[in-house]
Amino acid sequence: MKLARLGDGAEIFHTLQGEGVSVGAPAVFVRLSHCNLHCIWCDTDHTWNFEGTPWKHEKDGVAGYAKHRKEDVIIAMSAAEVAGIVRGFGCRRVVLTGGEPLLQEAALVELMEELRGDGADWVFEIETNGTILPGADFLGAISQMNVSPKLANSRMSEELRLKPMVLSGLAVTGKAWFKFVVRDERDIGEIRVLLERAGIPEERVILMPEGRTVEVLDHTAQWLAERCQDLGFRFSDRLHVRLWGDRRGV
Ligand code: SF4
Repeated sequence: MKLARLGDGAEIFHTLQGEGVSVGAPAVFVRLSHCNLHCIWCDTDHTWNFEGTPWKHEKDGVAGYAKHRKEDVIIAMSAAEVAGIVRGFGCRRVVLTGGEPLLQEAALVELMEELRGDGADWVFEIETNGTILPGADFLGAISQMNVSPKLANSRMSEELRLKPMVLSGLAVTGKAWFKFVVRDERDIGEIRVLLERAGIPEERVILMPEGRTVEVLDHTAQWLAERCQDLGFRFSDRLHVRLWGDRRGV
């Protein structure tokens, strides 16, 4: 598996789930490298914004920001090695995240099978951008899918970021929650059109303010919470940003 590198090892860490329907639950995060999108505000750009790529990021121009050298941000490990690290935390909720982890679907199935080999009651969540429909082995093994389709505010082309057939396929599994990153009222209109187009049930929708700092979150959170009340959608804050800020490995 190709994982995000952190220091001498992989970006695998024990924390609290900071977003979505499991917010606050202790979990081990396993961050995979690589993504098939390159959103302008992505907070895990070390998984895709490599030297030599043409992608833009809103941090371009910030003093000290530069594209990443692959050898600094990618580490390869077997599923058994990853399972060994995960077991060491003694926590049986695991969040498979990225990047786009479904680019390595077969390795994820192997990892989940490896961990469940001890007969314990593991819970596996995946965080995915909703552009890839996984196969039966993966869908059988995963407990919960946190699907985050990208809106126009990501600056990705609609053709790349929106796959209504994939979203419909994920919705009918009954395991998917659909979490949208919202900046302003235009995003809400876009979300409602997409829900209709992909047949996503409103009770499975979570709206979350965009922001990598408390100041930016606060700018949108109050307004968005009130809009969620009006519209009947769930609201999610970004707990990890409030507790630990824009840092890796927490
Ligand atoms: S899909 Fe997610 S990980 Fe990939 S670029 Fe967009 S925000 Fe980042």
